[in-house]
Amino acid sequence: MSEHVDVLTMAREQLAIAARYLDLDEGLHSVLAHPMRKLVVNFPVVLDNGAVQVFEGYRVQHNSSRGPTKGGIRYHPSVDVDETTALAMWMTWKCAVVGLPYGGAKGGVKIDTKLYSRREIEKLTRRFVTEINMVLGEWRDIPAPDIGTNAQVMAWIMDTFSMQAGYTVNGVVTGKPVDLGGSKGRVEATGRGVTVMAQQAAKTIGMDLSKSKVIVQGFGNVGSVAARLCEEHGATVVGLSDAIGGIYNENGLPVSELVHRYSGREGGIREYKDAQQVSNKELLEMPCDVLIPAAISGQVTKENADKVKAKLIVEGANGPCTPDADRIFADKGTLVVPDILANAGGVIVSYFEWVQGLQSFFWEENEVNDKLERIMTTAFQEVEATMRAHKTDMRNAALIIGVKRVADATVKRGIFP
Ligand code: GLU
Repeated sequence: MSEHVDVLTMAREQLAIAARYLDLDEGLHSVLAHPMRKLVVNFPVVLDNGAVQVFEGYRVQHNSSRGPTKGGIRYHPSVDVDETTALAMWMTWKCAVVGLPYGGAKGGVKIDTKLYSRREIEKLTRRFVTEINMVLGEWRDIPAPDIGTNAQVMAWIMDTFSMQAGYTVNGVVTGKPVDLGGSKGRVEATGRGVTVMAQQAAKTIGMDLSKSKVIVQGFGNVGSVAARLCEEHGATVVGLSDAIGGIYNENGLPVSELVHRYSGREGGIREYKDAQQVSNKELLEMPCDVLIPAAISGQVTKENADKVKAKLIVEGANGPCTPDADRIFADKGTLVVPDILANAGGVIVSYFEWVQGLQSFFWEENEVNDKLERIMTTAFQEVEATMRAHKTDMRNAALIIGVKRVADATVKRGIFP
């Protein structure tokens, strides 16, 4: 479904709505609608069988008014320069709405990682970083994990950049392994933040997360952690899916057991038999109170938004609901906690990792989790207040805050020269 949704148009449409509310100057709007820098690289990798394959990769930096740019690197077959640009723009608003001193960036390589060996992925990563290293740096642009990448890939990025600099540059990337300058709590951070937002948002609509039924689409780093933590808070997780398909049981699914036994297995969670098998698309329409789309963009559109039964949607993924879907949800009174707020936990703990690395002074996990929760709760309250003040939806409220902070920084710094 994601192929049919043009995420860059979607991101620009969202910006245009916020710009109207802010009465943003046309020139300033145009600055914010364009990324400051797009780097497209084509690079060869010698595969295990000796053949040479050329890959296309990207690093897009959207805006650096508030600080160095920050954002993940995605390895996925559908990555392209426009999608990377949209994701970079969302990173700018995300960092601003939770008050981090960063601008937004995103990177990616068009690749289906399942088809390559670990050695090939390592070589691809090292060559990709070498091709883009002139725009990276601990004070310039700091990558992190995203779909298809993980702590090991971040370690290779850090090592490659460091080898070329001639010394260890710890702060050039976040999401590293904990014994290599990573932060405790980083792996779980996005899923943890999603759960905190689900709790907060549930309260505002008179719902109690611990008594609600939850569906999570996506069983990767974000979805599996969010599902596990919702279950820990007492919620009943009734539906789950991975890339292969979904399962549903109105009496609840044993999330921890599923994470332990089925994640990463070839047949995926569908191998669990005590549940109804549903497609990824059907899963979104099954009965529940809270829906957490934590897979990929463009999942909830004008085709299926009116069939979604959840009263609360918390966007774990980037861009899962289109602007058409937003309008349908606004009409039927479904609360959508937008991606730039809901999934900000990852970049918040990335910021903690960067700060800890720069100081070479590392924190305990409960300190990380407490600070994460505090930042997200404050941001939620600010967004909620803005939503009420402007009588708008939560996405637009988050954008109004994020876009305004970036616009103010741009105006205060002035346009060079
Ligand atoms: N890729 C994640 C995101 O979309 C994390 C970015 C980061 O930690 O810099 O927010």
